[in-house]
Amino acid sequence: MKRWFRVVTISIFAIAAVSLVVIQLVQTRRTLSNSDNMFSVSVGNAMEDVLNQLDNDSPNAASSFSYQDLDSLIVEELIINGIDLHPVVGVYDGSQGSFLYSSDPRREDDLANSPYRYSFRPQGVVSTNQFFIILSFSYTDLFLQRNPTIYLYMSLFLILVIAVMFFISLRTISNQRKLDQMKSEFINNMTHEIKTPISTISLACEMLSDETISQDAASRANFIGIVADENQRMRVLVETILQSAKMSNKNFSINPKEVDVNAIVDKVLKSFKLTFSNRNGCVETHLDADPSVIVADELHMTNLIYNLVDNGIKYSTGAPHIIVSTSTDGKHFFLSVKDHGIGMSKSDQKHIFEKFYRVSTGDVHNVKGFGIGLNYVAQVVHLHHGHITVESEPNHGSTFTVSLPLKG
Ligand code: ADP
Repeated sequence: MKRWFRVVTISIFAIAAVSLVVIQLVQTRRTLSNSDNMFSVSVGNAMEDVLNQLDNDSPNAASSFSYQDLDSLIVEELIINGIDLHPVVGVYDGSQGSFLYSSDPRREDDLANSPYRYSFRPQGVVSTNQFFIILSFSYTDLFLQRNPTIYLYMSLFLILVIAVMFFISLRTISNQRKLDQMKSEFINNMTHEIKTPISTISLACEMLSDETISQDAASRANFIGIVADENQRMRVLVETILQSAKMSNKNFSINPKEVDVNAIVDKVLKSFKLTFSNRNGCVETHLDADPSVIVADELHMTNLIYNLVDNGIKYSTGAPHIIVSTSTDGKHFFLSVKDHGIGMSKSDQKHIFEKFYRVSTGDVHNVKGFGIGLNYVAQVVHLHHGHITVESEPNHGSTFTVSLPLKG
């Protein structure tokens, strides 16, 4: 999908979704406000009836007038007008600025601010003052009285659904983009990684075909060594990609048998001999594990050790200094690969075992890779029921430690 097309599609979708949400909100507000208006009209009608009744009462009734009667009269009329609520009722002397009566004195502040106020003259009271009957409904009552219809609930629900779907779509699109980016990075890196050994091998072959060089035993051995190392490099590379892809398959299984890990370490380190000498590096070994035999898949163990040592070299600036150690505690076998390279931050350490994760390098180093080596290593460790940990500090190097259950 072209970038401009994606931007246009997302923009149209965003505008449409936002407009829909706004329209729904406006509609919802209108519905609620209509229901508020209807409520006010009904209260007004009820109060009109109440005031009429108070006016029509015979003058003799004046003496028997009580505010409790007023309370029940209001409730009765509210019910007749479809409002089954018990508001707080107050009788307010507008000129004195005080309440003659309130059914709940604690709510006089609410009464003073209530919009439901109706001018009236108490019977038997001879005064030019202005009096009001004021009703105050609680917020909960008012909300319930709005009587939100199923239509309203549906609207609110649909607004929520649209908003959620919109964000899910945006996230899917952004994930898709990331995946595309990763794919093209992966292909670029793979091409680079495979091209380098191919050109080194072809150069070495050219040298070997030169008679003066091929007759010198030391030079010949050197170039044959280069071919063998680069070949091994490509083998592990292809192996890692293939095995990593295979491991995604649920039916993937390993082929465990008794293997001597110290011997595998020796074999792997031999294949790096030339790389170390080319970079003036050195490798130290402390293969103290005794026994060093565990039940494991030899191919995967070889690739695991190769990947860890290869990373140690790759992520060392200058001459690499790698220390490979093995040990046991009677129950577990420990293998650790320590380097003195560029190291990594705590936040990167949390992600390096994820597939395709590569620390963003900036100017610090420019090492090509796929970001699948450590993911593969972690999966191999997992399949062998072990653990892998990393200790690292930027510019001070890293130590990867694998612990595996010992045989038996
Ligand atoms: P890559 O092919 O990029 O090396 P890996 O899965 O082997 O992929 O490693 C993932 C990332 O972890 C690397 O890109 C690198 O940034 C970081 N990393 C791995 N090993 C080391 C190490 N020994 N020192 C510093 N950083 C490392």
